[in-house]
Amino acid sequence: MSENFDVIVIGGGPGGYVCAIRAAQLGLKAAVIEGRGALGGTCTNVGCIPSKALLQSSHLVDEANHAFAAHGIIVGKVEVDLAKMMARKDDVVKQNTTGIEFLLKKNKVAYLKGWGRISKAARDAHEVTVKDDAGKETAYVAKYVVLATGSDVTPLPGVTIDEKQVVSSTGALVLHKIPKSLVVIGAGVIGLEMGSVWRRLGAEVTVVEFLDVILPPMDGEVRKQMQRILEKQGMKFKLGHKVTAAKPGKDGVEVTIEPAKGGAAEKINAEVVLVAIGRRAYTQGVGLDVAGVTADKRGFVTVDDHFQTNVEGIFAIGDVIGGQMLAHKAEDEGVACAEILSGHASHINYDAIAGVVYTWPEVAGIGKTEEQLKEAGIAYNVGKFPFTANGRARANGDTDGFAKILADAKTDRVLGCHIVGPAAGDLIMEVAVAMEFGASSEDIARTCHAHPQLGEVVKEAALAADKRALHI
Ligand code: FAD
Ligand code: NAD
Repeated sequence: MSENFDVIVIGGGPGGYVCAIRAAQLGLKAAVIEGRGALGGTCTNVGCIPSKALLQSSHLVDEANHAFAAHGIIVGKVEVDLAKMMARKDDVVKQNTTGIEFLLKKNKVAYLKGWGRISKAARDAHEVTVKDDAGKETAYVAKYVVLATGSDVTPLPGVTIDEKQVVSSTGALVLHKIPKSLVVIGAGVIGLEMGSVWRRLGAEVTVVEFLDVILPPMDGEVRKQMQRILEKQGMKFKLGHKVTAAKPGKDGVEVTIEPAKGGAAEKINAEVVLVAIGRRAYTQGVGLDVAGVTADKRGFVTVDDHFQTNVEGIFAIGDVIGGQMLAHKAEDEGVACAEILSGHASHINYDAIAGVVYTWPEVAGIGKTEEQLKEAGIAYNVGKFPFTANGRARANGDTDGFAKILADAKTDRVLGCHIVGPAAGDLIMEVAVAMEFGASSEDIARTCHAHPQLGEVVKEAALAADKRALHI
């Protein structure tokens, strides 16, 4: 007889495993199905965690090459043991995936190993079949099914990813050799983070971007500043260009690019090409058709305000429903979905989800950009403060960037914050809390900030929104 659960989550990424843990905390009998052989999803296995491990290692290389001397630290020629760097990264991933397995056990969540598909949709008793590595199929029944199957790389027509010479982010995390040259297609988050890793390790990096700007959804001023900083670091940009072909051969990959608006084609040669033009919903084999679950034109599963699909009792969260494709957004949706399934009220404030790019300096943004406020016709005040005027940033020797706060001109409520600078991703979190509490820029300005801290830039930006910054 099939084992019964209150909720079965398909997909063990940050959305799925967190959803199951929260459901179990609230008294539901929960299971997670995961097919890749390790928990944590894209994020832990081939995304957030391994990329941050390599960003940290390569940042240290960069510091040793470019920052130590100013501190009076003399090192000889810096050498990179790439195999060791990669082994460390793999170990970090392992610690995280096994940690998640422990968390499931601790919360009495069943971990069902294999690929899951909805085999029968029936009100209050949906059937999910799991196929394990040996090909054995087992059916389970649940009142609720949560689809948390995540996302996959968007392919580029004319470019075949072989994960050797032409790689996706997954291949870019496991290169065995530092390439002499790397062409990155797409100046989005993955392109700039993985481009930074390999540039710091010595590759010549050229980023080809379809639009005329890098990091398209970010605040305009932030984008421009970040482009200048990355160019200063040696990254090259071909903006307003599209890649029409990438031909791998003995001597590398021949990449053909054309101006996006039309014009003569150009060829660039690179040892490795990284395709990073976005991600799309992953729903292959999960049985959307069997269940009658609908997706939008782009393949994202459609849900209502309570994460329920068009089929009663079948829910979806995380990357597979689109929106900001971020691990913390997936996690929060997992929590909210579990709380709703347990009969509680829960919701997500999508206006207060920070996006962070882990280059150095980092880029972080939350809420509205200036462009969005202008388009919506909302009057706002801007407060800006540069890291060059922050004592701690000077002490650290890390003065690139600024913090900018956007506040409603009438009410002073914080509408957005955008930071380029050291640890921008950590600094923006106080603004996230402030926005959750509906704070004004004056609330931030009147909050005593410890000195000397990088976070004082946020306070000074809040003061600047009322034209009363103190340290500039
Ligand atoms: P996923 O993490 O994609 O998990 C889905 C899981 O479901 C997968 O493990 C998959 O194997 C499994 N699955 C799919 N179908 C089935 C099935 N039928 N049966 C069983 N299992 C199935 N986000 C951040 O917030 N910060 C970052 O720093 C960051 N860095 C990133 C770096 C890279 C290189 C990439 C690619 C992404 C990064 N992201 C980052 C994005 C982040 O990884 C995703 O937003 C997040 O993983 C989405 O979580 P999820 O649970 O929705 O899906
Ligand atoms: P992205 O959407 O961030 O950037 C893709 C870029 O490629 C865009 O600038 C787009 O204009 C460009 N592009 C699209 N088609 C193109 C073409 N044909 N030629 C040239 N350029 C083209 O996507 P990504 O960088 O692949 O990342 C995927 C997802 O993963 C993102 O949604 C992101 O949120 C998530 N992610 C997050 C983090 C983080 O939070 N630090 C890190 C990595 C990935």
